Amino acid sequence: MHRNFIDAPPLVVEDDRVEAARLAALERFDIMDTPREEGFDRIARLICNIFDVPIAIVSMIDGHRQWYKAYEGLHHREAARDQTFCRHTIKDLLPTIVPDALNDARFANNPHVTGEPHIRFYAGVPLRTGDGHAIGTVCAIGREPRPFGKREVAILSDLAQMAMDELELRRLVTVDSLTGVLSRRAFQEQGGYAVALAQRHKHHLGCIVLDLDHFKLVNDRHGHAAGDKVLATVTAACRQHLRSTDLFGRLGGEEFAVLVAHTGLRGVAEVAEKLRAAIEQAVISVSGVRLGVTASFGIARLDPGLADLDALLANADDALYQAKAAGRNRCVVWRKANLVSAGFRRGG
Ligand code: GH3
Ligand code: MG
Ligand code: MG
Repeated sequence: MHRNFIDAPPLVVEDDRVEAARLAALERFDIMDTPREEGFDRIARLICNIFDVPIAIVSMIDGHRQWYKAYEGLHHREAARDQTFCRHTIKDLLPTIVPDALNDARFANNPHVTGEPHIRFYAGVPLRTGDGHAIGTVCAIGREPRPFGKREVAILSDLAQMAMDELELRRLVTVDSLTGVLSRRAFQEQGGYAVALAQRHKHHLGCIVLDLDHFKLVNDRHGHAAGDKVLATVTAACRQHLRSTDLFGRLGGEEFAVLVAHTGLRGVAEVAEKLRAAIEQAVISVSGVRLGVTASFGIARLDPGLADLDALLANADDALYQAKAAGRNRCVVWRKANLVSAGFRRGG
């Protein structure tokens, strides 16, 4: 017993290490919870068409959930990891083929087999990074049992490679294709340098975070394409009030951030107010209908106590939350006294 223990470290430790490296690899792609993208949607459609199955998924798997970057034939965008077929695919790092789930002891009692969406057939191939981590899967799912031969596995593997290429391309892109501002990843990288530089040379650095108000309503009422047009118009309007040295990035769906260097807090607040007014006044017409949007703003400065870009963004974000709570379409400057309500938000 004792010898064995020394010869072979406990498996669970090794598993933890592999899983931590896998999660770090996934993190590098900055893909979780991003909007749908045509490049991935196309792969899901191809899977349905080629294999004549009702359900196809391109998914990422983090510590707890399987999240769908693209999907066909389902109503939800994620599932708890421990009940998924795909968790076997990423664990084994190999294609997993289940011709009939009811004849497979691993899955016969799985809630996705006994209940919605009533899976009988599953074929999944891992999404493998260049350094060998399985960060997700592409899979074909059917409600009838069926065989899946070598040729089909080869095709699905090619589609997995296409999804992986798409992920790699996405990572290289520093500019957000819809709005032309920095991608989140690029903003974080360049913003990180800007913060380090300001800390070293003790110069002013201000941060503005803005989030469009009730943007979901724009999509709901006028469609996603109209929403996209609003995003492009609004960012173009903001750009006119920014200098080329300001960093302007898209943090997520309809949330943006600006870093303004060599400007004191009052100056940064003035910039934010100009952006707020520009968005309020922007004219956006969709199929002859004029749309108006507003945004809420949080402003913070790089105080000596702040560790890094994330801390600066967190303060600006707290102020943004207060701007939302106070009625939207306004700018709020973060102050230490605001900590109480910021703490309340986190707690609640
Ligand atoms: P709030 O004032 O509290 O911010 O309300 P909200 O509706 O803006 O907030 P919420 O976060 O609930 O909704 C954000 C919406 O933004 C939901 C999502 O569909 C939409 N969205 C995110 N990214 C995109 C995109 O790239 N294009 C379009 N058209 N819509 C997007
Ligand atoms: Mg919003
Ligand atoms: Mg938002």
